[in-house]
Amino acid sequence: MEKIRMTTPLVEMDGDEMTRVLWKMIKDELILPFVALKAEYYDLGLPHRDETRDQVTMDAALANKKYGVSVKCATITPNAQRMDEYHLHEMWKSPNGTIRAVLDGTVFRAPIMIDCIKPVVKNWEKPITIARHAYGDIYKATELRVPDEGKAQLLYTPKNGQPQTLDIYNFECPGVLQGQFNKDTSIESFARSCFAYALDQKQDLWFGAKDTISKQYDGEFKAVFQRIYDAEYKAKFEAAGITYFYSLIDDIVARVIRSKGGFIWACKNYDGDVMSDMVSTAFGSLAMMTSVLVSPDGKYEYEAAHGTVTRHYYRWQKGEKTSTNPIATIFAWSGALKKRGELDGLLELVSFGEKLEAASLQTLTDGIMTKDLCNLAEGIHPVEVDSESFIKAIRARLEATL
Ligand code: NAP
Ligand code: MG
Repeated sequence: MEKIRMTTPLVEMDGDEMTRVLWKMIKDELILPFVALKAEYYDLGLPHRDETRDQVTMDAALANKKYGVSVKCATITPNAQRMDEYHLHEMWKSPNGTIRAVLDGTVFRAPIMIDCIKPVVKNWEKPITIARHAYGDIYKATELRVPDEGKAQLLYTPKNGQPQTLDIYNFECPGVLQGQFNKDTSIESFARSCFAYALDQKQDLWFGAKDTISKQYDGEFKAVFQRIYDAEYKAKFEAAGITYFYSLIDDIVARVIRSKGGFIWACKNYDGDVMSDMVSTAFGSLAMMTSVLVSPDGKYEYEAAHGTVTRHYYRWQKGEKTSTNPIATIFAWSGALKKRGELDGLLELVSFGEKLEAASLQTLTDGIMTKDLCNLAEGIHPVEVDSESFIKAIRARLEATL
């Protein structure tokens, strides 16, 4: 068979630990035999990030901005223990944070559903994608433990003009105080990424905030979304047959639980932090959760939602074969190849991505699974296999469809 041709390079970001091991297996078994892969490779593994003083992460992010589509392996975000383990020069920042800042993007997380793993919420038939605004609010807040009686005020000193002071509370006893902020530019990018991705996926977009209580702060989020929708996306949404729906966050939460799924749920930063854990747990497994970073101007970075699966890696280092689930990483590859194909008009590449996904799901439907899924599957008697055998089983099914 002649290999499938590519025109624009895909930005490939390699990573760490067990997912780095899976990365190579996936490439060797499921990509390179079938696709004449045109990739610009960046090694974001922690040793190379340290050698380059993290320059490689910035270079990879800029390449993503230039070419438009990347696929990323999970990476270690260093902490004190990793400093010792890898003898690092510095506690480098999270690569995902760096890439997100360069692309000014929003992360969309969606579960991969299969028949034999039922969501805890029994009426959910289709995936629910969560979009989390990953900037500001309590994550960049300034806090104060109020030690005793006293007056708290909000002070804004403009570059030009008169300062404004608002009373917060006259403390008659000790308490707590917090100042949080967000920026119009960030809220606008968030809104545009959400509208663009909803169109891309042809799914409705839901957004919830608490504008009845937080009239200025959450009210601004609501207003920005509505303004951008009306000016830039309304006509496109109508043409695509999808809707934009705003409601109070508590109403949205209730509706999400009663829904059949199949929509994108835009969340403010804290809501997204909490609700993405709730939704992913209710759908079954972190190992079946995909993640895509979308910038407001339509650049994409595909990855798995889980980390580097350190515990499995330490066992693998001792020579053990592990049963680590590669599905989310395979779907990162298929997602990126499909998007590259779509942007470059390469139907064969799009079709390959679809067939890779179908072969992966067929393998699971046939009852061949990694350990994490065997524990969750209902109504079948799955065979537990190690990662390598699992990927080979997918390859056999993929070859049969090509
Ligand atoms: P993790 O790698 O997601 O793993 C946590 C646990 O979840 C694993 O020990 C495993 O449970 C289970 N698990 C996750 N993915 C799995 C898979 N594909 N197959 C089977 N089981 C899976 O999270 P972590 O241990 O908290 O973090 C490890 C490293 O990843 C950290 O250094 C962190 O900085 C990094 N991280 C990176 C990203 C990213 O790059 N996007 C995201 C999160 C974390 P059992 O051990 O019980 O089998
Ligand atoms: Mg969380």
